[in-house]
Amino acid sequence: MPKEPKMFSNIAKIFIAIFLLIGTLIVFDDIIRNDLRCRQQEFTGDTAQDSSIIESTAVIGTLYLSFRANVSAYCPCEKCCDKWADGVTASGHIIQPGDKFVAAPDRYPFGIIIDIPGYGEVPVLDRGGAIKGDKLDVFFPTHQEAVEWGRQYLMVKIMIEKQKRD
Ligand SMILES: [Zn+2]
Repeated sequence: MPKEPKMFSNIAKIFIAIFLLIGTLIVFDDIIRNDLRCRQQEFTGDTAQDSSIIESTAVIGTLYLSFRANVSAYCPCEKCCDKWADGVTASGHIIQPGDKFVAAPDRYPFGIIIDIPGYGEVPVLDRGGAIKGDKLDVFFPTHQEAVEWGRQYLMVKIMIEKQKRD
């Protein structure tokens, strides 16, 4: 058996193996990139028009968008709700003792959960004429408590994967 062709054949095999490996890595890399690109599109699709959302974070099992909100407070009284002081929220929820929820602009669907520091993880159950842009209005049972909350600028989180319908 001549030695040369066998040597050549072994070198050729190594080259082929290297080329295949590089080829596979390129294909995988492409798949990974495409996947990321798709996810980013998916993720920003709904919120691209919302300039107030400045950060998006995925934490193991919990996906949320966080943004700085202007959080005021209200109660069911006539001072806060004017002619709408009927004990029923815009979502149709009948206000009950111990209720905690938030009024948000209509781009936030009813039932979506917002985590508001110092208040809690609560569903969007109401709207309001002055609740626009980055404004939220947290609900308190008494006017005194609403006044005490005042107006706070807080980093809130829209919990993407948690929803609670009333
Ligand atoms: Zn009030």
